Order: sequence, then structure tokens, then C-alpha cells
Amino acid sequence: MKKVLYLFVFLPIILFANEYKKVILQLNWLNQFQFAGYYVAKEKGFYKDVGLDVDIKEYTFNTDLLKSIKTGKSDFAIGRSSLLIEKARGEDVVALGAIFQESPLMLLVRKDSHIVNVSDLKGKKIMITPDAAFSASLLAMLSANGLNKNDFISQSHSFKLDDLISGNTDAMASYLSNEPIILEDKAIKYKIFKPKNYGFNFYSDILFTSNKFIKNNPKLTKDFYEASLKGWEYAFEHKAETAEIIYKKYNTQNKSYIHLIKEGEILEKLAYVDNREIGALNKKKLQNIFNVFKLFGLVKNDIKMDDFIYNGNSHKTMSLEISPMKQKLIFIILFLFIVVFLIVIFILKKNKYLKEQLQTVIDSTDDFILYKDNKFRYLGCNKSFEKFVGKKKSEIIGKNDFELFSKEYAQLFRKRDMEALNLNSIYINNEHIIYENQNIIVQSKVIPFKYMKSKKEGILVVCRDITELHDIHEKLKKEAYHDELTNIFNRKAFNERIEEKFDLYYRYKNEFCIAMYDIDDFKCINDTYGHDVGDKVLIDMTKYIKKHIRKTDMIFRVGGEEFVILFPKTPILEAFDAIEKIRNEVSKLNLIKDKKVTISIGITQVKENDNPTSIYERIDKLMYVSKHEGKNRTSKD
Ligand code: GH3
Ligand code: MG
Ligand code: MG
Repeated sequence: MKKVLYLFVFLPIILFANEYKKVILQLNWLNQFQFAGYYVAKEKGFYKDVGLDVDIKEYTFNTDLLKSIKTGKSDFAIGRSSLLIEKARGEDVVALGAIFQESPLMLLVRKDSHIVNVSDLKGKKIMITPDAAFSASLLAMLSANGLNKNDFISQSHSFKLDDLISGNTDAMASYLSNEPIILEDKAIKYKIFKPKNYGFNFYSDILFTSNKFIKNNPKLTKDFYEASLKGWEYAFEHKAETAEIIYKKYNTQNKSYIHLIKEGEILEKLAYVDNREIGALNKKKLQNIFNVFKLFGLVKNDIKMDDFIYNGNSHKTMSLEISPMKQKLIFIILFLFIVVFLIVIFILKKNKYLKEQLQTVIDSTDDFILYKDNKFRYLGCNKSFEKFVGKKKSEIIGKNDFELFSKEYAQLFRKRDMEALNLNSIYINNEHIIYENQNIIVQSKVIPFKYMKSKKEGILVVCRDITELHDIHEKLKKEAYHDELTNIFNRKAFNERIEEKFDLYYRYKNEFCIAMYDIDDFKCINDTYGHDVGDKVLIDMTKYIKKHIRKTDMIFRVGGEEFVILFPKTPILEAFDAIEKIRNEVSKLNLIKDKKVTISIGITQVKENDNPTSIYERIDKLMYVSKHEGKNRTSKD
């Protein structure tokens, strides 16, 4: 069973390991902050969250971005505003969003070149890439300032900033987020000419793919785009962390950490120009850019901007498809549900088995076992208890003692149960009950316990028949304190009682008297009439004396034919009269035919500073005084 459970737990994990959809993103330049959002989306797990495993491919000099999308070599790519030209040429291009609302592309000149205005570039050397589509915004800016193709010396771009520093060129097409930072590091002053300032506000870094791809992967496209934007937002909000990610994992250009941060700061401004949302594409702005391309003869046919701009919502009808990530989640939830279900069944079965086992154990004992809830209603019991009640368990459960027993029993049990709950610990009580027509004594152990999950306090009661044990105990007790021959208390009992009497005397000034008597010439009786007659004298005399003392007085056999009588709360004169009367009567008893049997007595009252030993010694002496003075008399002190 356990093995099956393990299998159910691990199966979905095994099945779905590495189940991310592979996606390739082609960059249009070397790794730098320009692509930060994509790195962040990958590294922070935003792509993974939507089930994508994105491979970010750096630009190499023979990369054809459009071709890579067309051939399916990559799924998404980064392009420039010139994508509009490709679209007008009939290529399948759809722009998802523009990361930079304003292009970082501009013309860079040295400050000491005395070029103050764009028009000052007339006749100057300008490094612009030969790709007109790429440099359209720059060419438009030059043109707007009266500089056409032949008004400046166009140099092919060396991509070496040193050419500007050393004067090999006067102006260089550069990126706002790159070359100025390098010049600042070198403390070289510069000036920049932005096409935007002359009305040519181009987008840059447009994330694009093909319509074909979107149709086949509507959900994936939406997820990828949204995760990318999330990456961008995070990148700009956490520039230092982002720069560190690039510095550590994507720094193929060996840029410094500070450079990357500065780059991030500049690009952030370009991304959020006019407080636009990151990635926003505006039809009117695109049309303006398109018009510039038209002006330079780069495009002939008009295009429908709606076909160029990706509309995530238009694919919504198809987005009912469940992403692999969601499929995975549903699968795992389903499996976990089955696992939990199986575990519950397993536990219930095990519990049922345990319960049955436990019931067998408690049924096997002769003790009554029962348990009740916090309102003293029966929750369960064993077979012995069923027998005692004379009802089946099903008839007992839910009922209370008043519904099952006589009022006398119910009150007895209720009192005991409440006592245990109040004490909140084990409570032991002995109860006399009638079971199988016999008087028995049961010892009940009442144990408070928390039942079910309610954590309510109930009680568990175990009742054991201790009748036999009780009888044995009583018998032993009796034997220990009784004299077998005369059936009165013995010396041991006297020793304990005299301690008690002194306790009461010292605590409450409870006075008492004590007398000792000894049979006169008893040895002679034994010798003359035999030991059995002697025994009979002891028995009969004791019976007589016991009968003639008060119920509260106590008689003890403390030696062979020596006895002690305790007179609680009695003044000495009263006790003296009583014992004298007894002595007199004893002498008249016909204990042995034609033979007078007498006793000699010593009697005293408890005195200040007395103790069991001192008082005993005193009566012993007094009794001997009586013997010396001729026997059959009483001496008092
Ligand atoms: P005294 O008047 O001085 O007390 O004389 P006594 O003979 O009673 O003296 P003593 O105390 O020496 O004798 C006690 C005798 O009691 C000795 C013993 O054999 C006898 N005796 C003690 N216990 C029992 C008993 O349980 N049964 C019988 N039959 N005799 C006992
Ligand atoms: Mg004697
Ligand atoms: Mg004696």
C-alpha cells in the first residue's frame, strides 16, 4: 500500500520533469542592458512561471533577424522601426511591442569640434551605416536641416569610437546608452543630435514575430510577451540587481558594472517617454515613421497598421487552450487529490482495524470499561459492562446513567465522574454494587480524557471487582489487631489507640483514664485445672467485662492474662467506680466451679507531660501495688 502511495506522489514529478516549452529569442545586438528585461524574465523565473524555457541568442554579424523568424530558427526577435519597411515589402512581420518609445540612435560629435547645430555638419565626415533603413531617422534629421546625401561626406561605420575621438570622423551614428558613457569615462566632452528633436521620433527595439507563429501559438505568444514586459518592469525597478545579473551572466562585451547601471538609467527614460506604458505601439506614431521611410523612397505601398501591430486580445478566442504549465498544475492537483484520498482511505482502514483490535482487547477483560462524553453520555463500553447493565452496547451509547440505572446508582456514578472531571486527574473510588445477585465491591478508576477532535473532556472509567481482595484485606487487618482467643483488640491495637488518645489529649485536652488488670494466681489455675480451663476463664471473663463496659470504652489483651481498658473522656473517680464494680462482679462469677477467680487492677488518669510509655508504666506499677497489697483490689493514682 505504501509503495503505491509513493508511486502516486512521485509519478507526476517524474512525468513533468523538464516539461517547459522551448522558445528562442534572437537579439539584434550584443548582450547589454538594452536587453535587460529578457534576461531578468529568464533569470527571475517569469518565463518558467508560464511554462516557457527561453533561450536568448546574442547577435552575430551574419544574423538575419527576419530570416531567422521566417525559417523558424527563432520564435521571437528584436527589430527596429525599419520593420515597417519589411512589412510594406510583404514580409510576415507582427510587432508585439516597442521597448523603447524613443530610439537611442543619434549623431554624436565632439564638443571641441565646434559643431553646434545639425546644419554645421555640412561638408563634414559622418559615419552612418550604409543601411538606409537603419539610419532613416538620422538621414531624415539631416535632411530636415538642409543636408542631403551630397552635402556631407558619408563614411561607412567603423563602430570604433576612437575614430571620433581622434578626428577620423566628425560625427558618428551612436547609441545614447553606450558611446556617451564611454566618452564621459574618458572625460571627453561631446554633443548629441537626436532625431526626435527634429520631429523624427522612432521606436526602437521592437519585439516581433510572424503572424504564422502567433496563429499557431496564440497562448504562448501572449505569455511570452507578458512575461517579457514583466521582466522589463522589474529590470528598471531593480537596476542594480539587473546590472549585476548582466555583469555576471551576460557580459560578453566586458562592460563595467557602473557602465551597465548608467546604461540602464538612460534606457529607462527612453522606455517610459511621455509616461507611456512599456511596449506601447501607437498607430499614429508608426504612420509618421512610415511616412519618413516613404520620403526616402524606402517604401512604396501603404500598409494596414492593424496588421502590423499585435493584438493579444484578438487571439483570445483561441486562448482557451490550456498551457503546458496549467496542464501540469491540473495534473498535479488531480494526483495530489487522489493521493490524499488514498491516504484518507488507508488511515480510515487502519483506524478501523486498530479500533477493532482495541475493542477485542477491552472486551477480553472482566473489568468494566466504559467511556463517556463531557455530558456523561456513554461513548462506548466493553462486553463486561454490557453484562452489568444488561443491555447491548448500541442501547447504551448516547444514554446517561440516569437512563440506565436506578437513581441510587446513577447518583453514585455521577458524583464520582464529576469529582474526576473537577480534579482533572485520575480519581479512585470504591463502590458497593450488586452484580449477578451478589454484593460486590468495585474499585473505579476515573480518568479524564480528550475525546475525538473536539478536544472535549470526557472520562474513561475502569471498574475492577475487588470484593475478594477487600475481604482478604479486612481479614488480615482483623488478624493483625485482634486476639484470637478472646476476640478483642490485641497489644498492637492498643499501641496504636493509645497514640491516638494522646493526640486528642494534646490537641483538644480530651482526658481519658486507663486501667490494667491481671488475673490473680492464674498459673495456679492452669496447673490445677488444666490449660483449657485457663483458656475458658480468659474467654468468659473477657466476655463479661466487655459486656459491662460502655460502648465507647475499649478493652485490649496486652499479655497472657493481662488486660487494659481505656475510658475516653472519663474522670478518674467515675472510671474508678466502674472498674471497682467490675472487679467486684468478676470475683462473684462462677468461672470455675467452686473456685473464686479474682483480678488485681491499677488505674490512672492521663496527666500533664504523660506519654504512652509513662502512662503504661504507671498502671503496671499500680497493678503490682494491688498484687502486693493482697490482690483482688484496685490501686489508683
Ligand atoms: P499473679 O497473681 O502474681 O499474677 O500470679 P500468676 O500465677 O498469675 O503469675 P504469672 O504472671 O507468673 O502467671 C501467668 C500465667 O498465665 C503463666 C501462663 O502459663 C499463663 N498464661 C498465659 N497466657 C495464657 C493463655 O493464653 N492460656 C492459659 N491457659 N494460660 C496462660
Ligand atoms: Mg496473674
Ligand atoms: Mg501476669
